[in-house]
Amino acid sequence: MLSIVIPIYNEEGLIDDLVKRTVSALEAFIDDYEIIFVEDGSEDQSLQYLLNWQNKNHNIKVLSLSKNFGHQAAFTAGLEYAAGEIVGMMDGDLQDPPELFGEMYRKITEENYDIISGTRSGRKGKSGRNIYTSLFHLLFRNVAVIQNMENTGNFSMMKREAVDALLTMKEKVRYLPGLRSFIGFKQGYVEFVRDERSEGDPKMSLSKLFILAADAIFAFSRFPIKMCLYLGLIGTIVFMFAGIYVLIAKIFGFAVIGWSSTLLSIYFLGSIQLVSLGVVGEYVYRIYKESQNRPIYFVKKFYDGNRAK
Ligand code: UDP
Ligand code: MG
Repeated sequence: MLSIVIPIYNEEGLIDDLVKRTVSALEAFIDDYEIIFVEDGSEDQSLQYLLNWQNKNHNIKVLSLSKNFGHQAAFTAGLEYAAGEIVGMMDGDLQDPPELFGEMYRKITEENYDIISGTRSGRKGKSGRNIYTSLFHLLFRNVAVIQNMENTGNFSMMKREAVDALLTMKEKVRYLPGLRSFIGFKQGYVEFVRDERSEGDPKMSLSKLFILAADAIFAFSRFPIKMCLYLGLIGTIVFMFAGIYVLIAKIFGFAVIGWSSTLLSIYFLGSIQLVSLGVVGEYVYRIYKESQNRPIYFVKKFYDGNRAK
């Protein structure tokens, strides 16, 4: 069986389109499938829309979370409930074309890949957000300890073994595309052009996107710590030379007792220290999050169609 996991947060306007397109894309190549919609604490009628669809098509299942946990948590929940031998993941806003699942499935079953990720060869749509995403990928490519992740997102398909491996990683601060690359296995790619969202506003606010980017960088690179170190080193070198200059000036007697140099050095060192403290704080925060060991999500109800409860 093939399972597809789709997170949904306040998407009532596009659920009908989404279900129709996904179902027909899947039925084009497979009969035995389930679509798990993870309803991430929507405030609108999304859940009702999904349940209506479930009445018509028992391959549709709805996992309703107790509140909004964010889309990485929603994906995780869906992966844990997915029963298929092969599992696909896709955003619910039709930016990723469900028609590509056929190609992903073929690569996994015929070419023996374990994981297929969609890579975005381009993007349509509003530029501000896209520039932001490109900047993140540029930075991430240069600093991250994992490779070949550029321009991949959540759109992907995995074999059961890979899904189980992914789910053994219980970290609370999750960046799934990174974790997916980290686990290894035979990884393949299919290219696509990322579409504009088909309806409504993005449900990941810019601040949520920013936090996701920070999570990715802190979890998969040493960049922040290194940056502190370099800043500190630069500071040390600059002020070593400044110190030598001051000494020479003193010895040859042309020292002007000025406050500008003093003030400058205080500003400079102070700012380096503040930046470094902030970075250390980010790590402490993440350690704290992990040590709390709270569940990543809570399920309100799993509507699983076939099985009567
Ligand atoms: N989403 C979610 N919980 C959230 C935010 C978003 O489940 O807190 C879902 C949303 O409904 C969509 C997917 O995650 O199906 C991607 O969201 P969005 O399109 O806003 O993100 P972007 O395309 O900017 O990455
Ligand atoms: Mg989107």
